[in-house]
Amino acid sequence: MKRSERYEAVLRHFAEVSPHVTTELEFGSVFQLLVATVLSAQCTDKRVNQVTPELFRHYPDAAAMAEADPEDVLSFISSISYPNSKAKHLVELSVAIQEKFGGKVPSALDDLTSLPGVGRKTANVLLAVAFSKAAMPVDTHVYRVSHRMGLVPKSAATPLAVERCLTKNIPEALLADAHHWLLLHGRYVCTSRKPHCEKCPFKGFCPKIMDFKGY
Ligand code: SF4
Repeated sequence: MKRSERYEAVLRHFAEVSPHVTTELEFGSVFQLLVATVLSAQCTDKRVNQVTPELFRHYPDAAAMAEADPEDVLSFISSISYPNSKAKHLVELSVAIQEKFGGKVPSALDDLTSLPGVGRKTANVLLAVAFSKAAMPVDTHVYRVSHRMGLVPKSAATPLAVERCLTKNIPEALLADAHHWLLLHGRYVCTSRKPHCEKCPFKGFCPKIMDFKGY
């Protein structure tokens, strides 16, 4: 099967079964999505959703968070991975949003990645989810399933290389949805250790299925 045919089959399937897809993070504004996405690095969305309601009650926007003491922010996010550095980054990025961007989360990739604690993946999530731009955030799930399903060559050995390959092969209008489709496929079906190949809609052509034939 040619790579282009793989893309076609995968995108057609997801478009049919899951036409309306978005992030599982809960938020009420662009700023809150930014905070939730920063918190979700190396942490589950479920856990993030458990702490953000109280966090957002105390710090609903950049103006409030910029005035906070990182120690106080820490008390709300202590169950999240890397809480100390994330608390510090949340306050610092809020100060930067206030001072450099007039209190509004910027909508350009370079501006977003200039914020403390905001890497390319987080910035791409903001672009795709908050600003409806054609962007492909590559997290651990997207990276893994893209390789397993043969959507990217083995030589695409970094998240950026995978992002470029997916961006080249997926129509712009579908990029943001494709991010969620691949991520959710990785989270619930093509899981890291024991993928559920038996219920995978792509088992007919997945080049990796033989690695998991004991399923
Ligand atoms: S067949 Fe298995 S390895 Fe391949 S994409 Fe599906 S779950 Fe992942």
